[in-house]
Amino acid sequence: MGKLEKAVRPEERIADLVIPGSKVAIVQEGNTLEHALLVLIKSGYTAIPVLDRDYKLKGLISMPLILDTALGIERIEFEQLGTRRVEEVMNTKVGWMRESGTFFRGLELSINHPFLCVVDEEGVFKGILTRKSILATLHKQMKNAPKE
Ligand code: AMP
Repeated sequence: MGKLEKAVRPEERIADLVIPGSKVAIVQEGNTLEHALLVLIKSGYTAIPVLDRDYKLKGLISMPLILDTALGIERIEFEQLGTRRVEEVMNTKVGWMRESGTFFRGLELSINHPFLCVVDEEGVFKGILTRKSILATLHKQMKNAPKE
C-alpha cells in the first residue's frame, strides 16, 4: 500500500479480492468422481466448488472425500470412481458469501474456511475469496501503518 492507496475498511465490498469464476477449477454435481479426481489432481487443489448446470453453488468436493469413497477393506477401489457421482459425496456445508458482502464478513468466515465461494443474489457462482488474499490485504495494511 503506497501513500496514495486507501486502507481497507471493514464495511468495504470484497469485489476487488475475488478470484473470478472463469479462473476457478470447478466440477458439476453430475460429474463422476473419477472426473473430479482428475480435476483436483490437475489443478493441484485439495478442494474445489461443485456447481449445477445453471452455475449455482451446490457444495465442495475434496480429495479426502473421494478417496474415502473408494476405500475398500484392503485396497483403494479406483474402479468405483467411474460410476459414483459428485453429488453423492460432496460436502454441502460450504463457506460462502454474497458478492455484495463486506470485507469484515469475509474475514470472519475465513477463520474457519480456507476459501469462500462468492455468489450473486440468485446463488449463481461468481468466484472465490481466499483466506490468503484476506490475510495478504491485512498484512499489507499493518506493514504500511504509520508508526506510533
Ligand atoms: P490459496 O489461498 O491459493 O492457497 O487457496 C486456498 C484454497 O482455495 C485452495 O486449497 C483451493 O481449495 C481453493 N482455490 C484457490 N484458488 C483456486 C482456483 N483457482 N480454483 C479452485 N480452487 C481454488
